[in-house]
Amino acid sequence: MHRRLIVPSALAASLLLAIPASAADYVPGAPGIGDSYYPTSGNGGYDVSHYDLRLKYQPATDLLEGTATILATTTQNLSRFNLDLGLRASEVRVDGRLAKVTATGAHELEVVPAAPLPKGKQITVVVRYAGKPSEFKVDGWSAWHRTPDGGVAAQEPDSAAWWFPSNDHPRDKATFDVSVSVPDGTQAVSNGVLQSQSSRLGWTRFNWRSNKPQATYLATLAVGKFDITTDRTANGLPVLNAYSKDLGDNAGAARASIERTTEVAEWLEGVFGPYPFNALGGYVPNVTSGYALETQTRPFYSPRQFANGANVSVVVHELAHQWYGDSVSVHDWKDIWVNEGFARYSQWLWSEKEGEGTAQELADYVYATRTAEDPFWTVKPGDPGPDNQFHIAVYDRGALALQALRNEIGDEDFFAVLKGWPQRFAHGNARVADFVRYAEEVSGKPLAALFDTWLYQPAKPAAGPSPVSASPARAAAVEPAQPKSWKKIAATNTVHEHGDH
Ligand SMILES: [Zn+2]
Repeated sequence: MHRRLIVPSALAASLLLAIPASAADYVPGAPGIGDSYYPTSGNGGYDVSHYDLRLKYQPATDLLEGTATILATTTQNLSRFNLDLGLRASEVRVDGRLAKVTATGAHELEVVPAAPLPKGKQITVVVRYAGKPSEFKVDGWSAWHRTPDGGVAAQEPDSAAWWFPSNDHPRDKATFDVSVSVPDGTQAVSNGVLQSQSSRLGWTRFNWRSNKPQATYLATLAVGKFDITTDRTANGLPVLNAYSKDLGDNAGAARASIERTTEVAEWLEGVFGPYPFNALGGYVPNVTSGYALETQTRPFYSPRQFANGANVSVVVHELAHQWYGDSVSVHDWKDIWVNEGFARYSQWLWSEKEGEGTAQELADYVYATRTAEDPFWTVKPGDPGPDNQFHIAVYDRGALALQALRNEIGDEDFFAVLKGWPQRFAHGNARVADFVRYAEEVSGKPLAALFDTWLYQPAKPAAGPSPVSASPARAAAVEPAQPKSWKKIAATNTVHEHGDH
């Protein structure tokens, strides 16, 4: 029972001011931000606006030493708060004063400031830390790739805890300055613009700036020996690509794909609207994993993506994420379809544009080749569960949902939706339900039933996403021909790897 106290608001305000908050009014920030799949991801009680990371990394020993300066604002009266970090913190200061710090759980740092922090306060947290990222594992799993000449942080749904302390969830985005010192002859690659680099006493420091809100898992660090190419787009944005010197037979195919980044981004601007960030590029370290990741402004590609020759389709996928995933990010990890359904559909659109099979032909092919008994149809792209977050159904069935939408509302409204969405939620977060509402708003049509069929039912829909004008003969076709682009698109199916928590 809640009894309402009726107090004139001016009087209430003066009462609040007159009574100093007691210790009981300050409570610990939650050890998780409230994600439905990953309860300990991120933290409660504050919001970060900027990370300044000053790092030193020695490839020979895998030792990473860092000082992170985190600018944040408290969102409640805080007695203490958590940061996510897997490396060892030796000192934490809050607003200049030493704080008590305890490592708890798999990757939590509990920070008790010298004095409690009132809600709405801007705070500066400085964390000194060090460790060997490859030695930190969560349930046997690591986001850190040790390579023969360095190391790489690139993973989803999280990788930050392997190299910096953070509020590790896409819901808390921030700008980044990343400064990394590595032995001369080695490079350090991160997000955004390379502002400067300088060499002193055998070490070279690289200073990177990513000046638009960035989710922590989209921050990346790659240390190694790279061949670097640079350019500018027609709009003047800097392009920087980095290729490990050790790509062997895959080197040519990697360059023949990633050097087309500018061309692909220009085409995507026509579909999704203006490119949302301050730089472009990609990098290919000499890792043994097989996936790629949409790290902001500069996607990570595995050499294995290019083992069978050039693959522009994977570049299309990762660049599409710059709009769908990076600028507009999931609110909760269960919203993964707002990333992957669209990145996959962009590959279908590229295929359509290249004359290698239309999106409709690709949709028909997926629908026909996945029988009703295929467990593919039991995965619900709108809420796949943590174990199926990166299941192929999130991609292919997710793209089928978009083809169904296209047929329902027509090309004009469909492409207006694709272009309008990244503007509406630019540099923010959104849920699947937000997309459904937005598509209804643009088209003026009720769409709940359509999305329920394609995103939420654990069964194969009775009919494929055919255009209204489809001939009965076509609808009856059992197995349409495999579109020309199919194999290249299928070769990118391992674009993300699921991290077990
Ligand atoms: Zn993807």
